[in-house]
Amino acid sequence: MLRLLCVLVVSAVFADRATYYNYQVRRVVPENQEQLKVLNDLEAEPNGLYFWVRPSRIQKAVDIMVPPHMLPFFSEIAEGLNLKSEIYISNVQHLIDTERPKVRPTADFGWTDYHTLDEIYAWLDSLVETHPGVVTSIVGGQSYEDRQIKGVKVSFKAGNPVIILEGGIHAAEWISSATVTYILNKLLTSEDPVIADLAQSFDYYVFPNVNPDGYVYSHTTDRLWRKTRRPVGNGCYGADPNRNWDFHWMEAGASSDPCTDYYAGEYAFSENETRSLAEYFKSISDNLVGYLDFHSYSQLLMFPYGHTAEHVSNYDELLALGLEGAAALARNNGTQYKVGSIYEAIYPASGSSLDWVRGNLGAPYAYVWELRDTGRYGFLLPANQIIDTGEETLNSVIVILQEAKRNLQGNTKR
Ligand SMILES: [Zn+2]
Repeated sequence: MLRLLCVLVVSAVFADRATYYNYQVRRVVPENQEQLKVLNDLEAEPNGLYFWVRPSRIQKAVDIMVPPHMLPFFSEIAEGLNLKSEIYISNVQHLIDTERPKVRPTADFGWTDYHTLDEIYAWLDSLVETHPGVVTSIVGGQSYEDRQIKGVKVSFKAGNPVIILEGGIHAAEWISSATVTYILNKLLTSEDPVIADLAQSFDYYVFPNVNPDGYVYSHTTDRLWRKTRRPVGNGCYGADPNRNWDFHWMEAGASSDPCTDYYAGEYAFSENETRSLAEYFKSISDNLVGYLDFHSYSQLLMFPYGHTAEHVSNYDELLALGLEGAAALARNNGTQYKVGSIYEAIYPASGSSLDWVRGNLGAPYAYVWELRDTGRYGFLLPANQIIDTGEETLNSVIVILQEAKRNLQGNTKR
């Protein structure tokens, strides 16, 4: 009887998994105000369309996932507007099915496959064992479903200036968490003297999964889930945790509709995850010099602000250093990044963790990466690109940390 029950439960779980057979991702580039307005209107009431990259301005590409039954509707609108659309992904489910290796590697944590939340948390625990006196377990906050926002602190000597690494705030962006763990591992194990020196020069607070409920849900139920998992009304779930921080909340690029993917929440810090994490960040902010946040996709390296086109006080330095970082990133594989403030480089977006950290805690080196790729895989970057992504991204992180270190020593380069 028990066995039968188990079989039933397992099949129920699989039956409830979201599928995306023959969903396409179409790229359109608005060329005039009319086209942009229609895209903005569509995004405000998407009715089943899912904007992977939102409309922002003329000549800026928009990626829209279109369910098969809506393809005629979508084509009609595009034709009516004389808006050319290109098929970037012809079958989203195919990418979901081939994203991960057929046989899961079992030997060690590795970076050849994406990991579940439990696997990542167990690996973090193992670091405390393997690096005694250097790695300690920390809890940055609590989720709606009562999971810990687990992290580790890496400290080779007391009193170092503080760097925060954050990943996974958007659940679907698995490459974010994978890249954060990749960089963490290198800080602890690399024999490269440059990396070892940087590891010893700062205290690192590392959180690979700051939206744990969403991340679990993206593994068990809906691969493309982005938000938190709190019921928010109208039968919908979750706020966008990167629009929910209490800094110019809801001023730009966020939605008040609970059913959209950019829902900012009922009020700033309505989400347990952002509220508790902000408290934790405050508690470690005395000597905070860097905040490095990882998202996907689009290949952008950005800095504050997102709510305004006005420049942050050290804009020129952040831009120049960002360009140096992007050049270092391109060194291994030629991966090209664009650099700028969030507002300029991607779209106006307020209430992000990056803006809050910079605006409230003053971290001078605050950067956010939109990792690979530029849309052929989008959120579904194959696991066999994790290591190359981690390695090239680390190159840019090194450039930024080296400059932060030089600056702290009062030996500024520019
Ligand atoms: Zn994101």
